[in-house]
Amino acid sequence: MRMFQVCTCGQPLQCNEQATPEPKGAEVLLKVLAAGVCHSDLHLADGWFDLGGGKRLSLADRGMKLPVTLGHENVGEVVALGPDAKGVKVGDRVLVDPWIGCGTCGPCLRNEDNLCTAMRSLGVFSNGGYADYLMVPHARYLFDIGNMSPERAAPLACSGVTTFGALKKVATLKTEPTVIIGAGGLGLMCLALHQKMGGHSAIVVDIDPAKRDAALKGGAKAVVDGGAADAVDQIKRLTNGGAWGVIDLVGSSQSARVGCDSLAKGGKYVIVGLYGGDLTVSLPPIAMRAVGIQGSYVGSVPEMAELMELVKRTGLPDVPVATRPLSQVNEATADLRAGKIVGRVVLQPAAG
Ligand SMILES: [Zn+2]
Ligand SMILES: [Zn+2]
Repeated sequence: MRMFQVCTCGQPLQCNEQATPEPKGAEVLLKVLAAGVCHSDLHLADGWFDLGGGKRLSLADRGMKLPVTLGHENVGEVVALGPDAKGVKVGDRVLVDPWIGCGTCGPCLRNEDNLCTAMRSLGVFSNGGYADYLMVPHARYLFDIGNMSPERAAPLACSGVTTFGALKKVATLKTEPTVIIGAGGLGLMCLALHQKMGGHSAIVVDIDPAKRDAALKGGAKAVVDGGAADAVDQIKRLTNGGAWGVIDLVGSSQSARVGCDSLAKGGKYVIVGLYGGDLTVSLPPIAMRAVGIQGSYVGSVPEMAELMELVKRTGLPDVPVATRPLSQVNEATADLRAGKIVGRVVLQPAAG
């Protein structure tokens, strides 16, 4: 089997071959049908996140060991089961929840694998789906996709559950406009799920006019140029004085400034994006204005189940998806880095 791996941080992914492994214990082996390319793959390939002020968060320090196969948005077909694996059968087409915890810490025992202190996430800390085959440690992380298209379902595993988890943190989702910063793959997914969850209306902020257009086509009530000097004033006007809920899918110093400064009293800023940077906030207004600043990281296994149920009931989110052969993974990540991708690129091993 082929595997596209980070071997040296900052270098293109390398195609390595190995014998296809046999599942042991409760493991399930999948043939990869579709693997979405996510913005965080760029950070994983680089090996660090920007903490602002010249500081970096090294992924090696967080437990990432090389070489590792990237790819955390995967749909596959079950091809083999370990002797103790239950709940799926050969031939099932499944979405993989890659946010796998240690199974024994407090958060894992509360079914919050995404908050585990020793995560084993597929495509981050253990081998992911930029490969012909993918081993999953347990069938509890597999969700049947029925007759959904694998390439359109794959992004649910990261961009889907990440935005779903963030939207669930906005208490005023159904009664007030929600501000979504960033209209890349994550932003368009967020916009689509916002509608499926019965969201009141969405105001989308992006510095790129092509992405703002995509957001308007995707159902945004209004769009704002995040780079405009009066971006905050525009958001305040559109939200009748200030936003109750801001979801920041960029996570840069600039987007965080816009997001926090746009809040109404009692409003909440939810940061999801990992672009990097820092933010200085005065403390008294946090108390006096009763605002919330909260982080949101992917989603839990129950949230993934809830999202799959929502999608089965209401249809797949209508996010632009382009497919490419798996062998073009490095071209795909380069295009993503250059900001040339609208929506999602999904890799297909069967196409080459
Ligand atoms: Zn991702
Ligand atoms: Zn754990």
